[in-house]
Amino acid sequence: MKIAIFGTGYVGLVTGTCFADLGNNVVCVDIDKQKIKDLKKGKMPFYEPGLKELVVRNSKEKRLIFSTDAKDAIRKAEVIFICVGTPPKENGEANLQYVFDVAKTIGENINGYKVIVDKSTVPVGTAEKVERIIKSSQKSDHPFDVCSNPEFLREGAAVKDFQNPDRIVVGTSSERAKLILNQLYKSVIRTESPIMFTDPKTSEIIKYASNAMLATRISFMNELSHLCESTGADIKDLAKGMGLDRRIGSRFLQAGVGYGGSCFPKDVKALAQTLEQHGHPSNILRAVDYVNERQKKSLIPKLKKILPRLEGRKIVLWGLSFKPRTSDVREAPSLTIIEQLKNEYADVYAYDPEAMHEAKKYVKGVHYVDDAYEALKGAYALIIVTEWDQFREPDFELMKKLMRRKIIIDGRNIFNPDTVKAHGFEYAGIGR
Ligand code: NAD
Repeated sequence: MKIAIFGTGYVGLVTGTCFADLGNNVVCVDIDKQKIKDLKKGKMPFYEPGLKELVVRNSKEKRLIFSTDAKDAIRKAEVIFICVGTPPKENGEANLQYVFDVAKTIGENINGYKVIVDKSTVPVGTAEKVERIIKSSQKSDHPFDVCSNPEFLREGAAVKDFQNPDRIVVGTSSERAKLILNQLYKSVIRTESPIMFTDPKTSEIIKYASNAMLATRISFMNELSHLCESTGADIKDLAKGMGLDRRIGSRFLQAGVGYGGSCFPKDVKALAQTLEQHGHPSNILRAVDYVNERQKKSLIPKLKKILPRLEGRKIVLWGLSFKPRTSDVREAPSLTIIEQLKNEYADVYAYDPEAMHEAKKYVKGVHYVDDAYEALKGAYALIIVTEWDQFREPDFELMKKLMRRKIIIDGRNIFNPDTVKAHGFEYAGIGR
């Protein structure tokens, strides 16, 4: 099938590349000329396991091309995916300007029947708005269908998630579009992943509701972590004991330094905003967001309990990305922690296996070090912010030799407190 993807970010690049890998002819379009130029040379805009190899292979075999020519891409495509960003406005509402811009461009250049698929995360009712924009920007009348097909991939496992999703949700009322998308996803459905058809509005809400539910579980456990700390209970065992109940399940029950990334924070706020616009105040979602913001700020008070004065003292962060196996630092807890440390006039050092380049765009005044141990020389404390696998079994003896004060604040509970203490460190985790 001939596919055009608008927006070559995390979602668009993964979607386009994986569709090309299934034998489709894909053009990935972006307004960012530099990004397209780099991708043509095989240079990736971000780190995502397994993606580069697929991009290089499918580009070589000419099934995947990168372009800034929207008109040409639209005219040649049978299916057009909208995968542009929907960042939050000041009030938390999703900014749909990029989606609407693409809709207008599609309307201006459409030359025959197309299925237009909205993969960006958008509030309920957006498919209808996209349809109206396309209709009103057409020069001559061409039939088309607008569908909702939210994306559920996780950064860090995006390729695997595309190839083996838990489910594919499609919102459409058109039988013609349904047949085409069923055909397009045929190879993915073969892996037993169910495809679910519903109406566009329900499909749009499914995406927000799923992310909001996962975020709620995280904030719920983070709230309980404080009770564990006050009473001497252990949040990890608490999560285990709860998760063994099959009605609850064990996933997304890990307490930590809070969720980040480009999705959970914005989607929780946007869903709350949508509810409120429809006259339903969202007490749960506002609380989920509040607890998360508070949690992001919870590590530095723990550090200050052990080391009251931070001014001029070297404090090291291991991990900057909002989660492991990605270079994405958008809304990452590391950004809040760095801000807090700078307010205390601490000397901030950081190491991350993949995200330092990205972090440099967001925060200045941090010493980025290319080696995790090198970063620890003369440090007063180490803060674990992202649970990269390589941090899980560190050389505690070497760390002890390198550090000036032996303090570890474990924002992801990756260490066994007894082991760390046995090595002579002062330790604080989350909820234990
Ligand atoms: P991103 O910021 O990484 O990429 C968006 C891209 O769209 C950018 O490269 C930008 O230059 C491009 N763009 C903007 N306007 C354009 C236009 N008119 N024509 C062509 N390209 C244009 O965004 P992302 O993280 O891939 O997210 C895209 C959408 O998918 C968002 O709605 C997001 O909420 C949703 N989503 C993201 C994830 C994720 O893990 N990142 C997962 C599921 C859903």
